[in-house]
Amino acid sequence: MTLICKAENIDNDIAVLNKAAEIIRSGGLVAFPTETVYGLGGDGLDPKAAQKIYAAKGRPSDNPLILHISHTDELKPLVKEIPKSAEKLMERFWPGPLTLIFKKADIVPYEVTGGLDTVAIRFPQNSIARKFISLCGRPVAAPSANSSGRPSPTRASHVEFDLKGKIDMIIDGGHCEFGLESTIVDVSKDRPCLLRPGSVTVEMLEDMLGGIDIDKAVTSKLEAGERPKAPGMKYTHYSPSAKVIIVRGNEENVVNKINQLVSQTDKCLKTGVIASEETKDRYIADEVLVTGSRSNTAEIASNLFKMLRKCDHHNIDVVFAEGLPENELGLAIMNRLKKAAGYKIYDV
Ligand code: AMP
Ligand code: MG
Repeated sequence: MTLICKAENIDNDIAVLNKAAEIIRSGGLVAFPTETVYGLGGDGLDPKAAQKIYAAKGRPSDNPLILHISHTDELKPLVKEIPKSAEKLMERFWPGPLTLIFKKADIVPYEVTGGLDTVAIRFPQNSIARKFISLCGRPVAAPSANSSGRPSPTRASHVEFDLKGKIDMIIDGGHCEFGLESTIVDVSKDRPCLLRPGSVTVEMLEDMLGGIDIDKAVTSKLEAGERPKAPGMKYTHYSPSAKVIIVRGNEENVVNKINQLVSQTDKCLKTGVIASEETKDRYIADEVLVTGSRSNTAEIASNLFKMLRKCDHHNIDVVFAEGLPENELGLAIMNRLKKAAGYKIYDV
């Protein structure tokens, strides 16, 4: 059975958070809100809890988990060294939507790191997440709380849909502020390298570090046989059941091309468009799902996964998504959209 409890305020809802922490300490699984997406938490130092997380998500066990901490002091025992570049990034972006990859200390089980000698660490900003992790008294291993391959959950109802009956508890803390998974930077090598774009943008990272390498898989599809730096990159991600196709270019061309593609689609299929506030009234598809204004990429990011999930609830067969320029937050949004689309893109 899965217990579902609301928690919006750390003082009023402390009993819920104590209960959740007790479940973690006794080896169970709890989904909890963060500022990025909901996480599926288990005891980060217990190999059995890690195995339970993989089983509940249906996630391949070579796709590593992120360890969540509630204070910077909790980092040291988990890693071999803290490079200068990491110190700078932590100072500026922790707590917040940035995960750092370090060389792992011996106490971190290989079950958590997918067999790697490195470990991913995040110090989230969300107050419910922080209080919950601190009450656990240990790092909390947590991937996104979705079934493997589905869009990440940004509402407790998304977690419930994917994982009810498979985990012990869901803490419902409302919707996630950023709505895209954390930015991941590998600081375990000589030069910091971006492995996953997120709400801490490349421009912000460059500003702090002077320069940063960007892994090829951030923007393009890996060729067959190519080994990704972040193991998660080789798996399909974020896909609704609908076929997703991206159309990018100037606004006028995008609208025209999408309407042309809709009109050419088999009439037995239900069509959808993932559109912006500015263009929503111009489409002829069966359903138009609006993520936000083109001038507000934060709004688009926070609604993207909800709209991908809506495609399934509305039984849409083919959905056309408006592309965005790949700078600032647009890079992270397009990274998720491209994966959802299996890199099917029209440039117009
Ligand atoms: P999720 O928590 O579902 O957003 O997935 C966590 C992602 O973090 C994984 O898919 C990996 O790509 C990445 N990750 C976690 N640990 C490591 C690591 N040690 N090295 C590289 N990437 C990692
Ligand atoms: Mg995930």
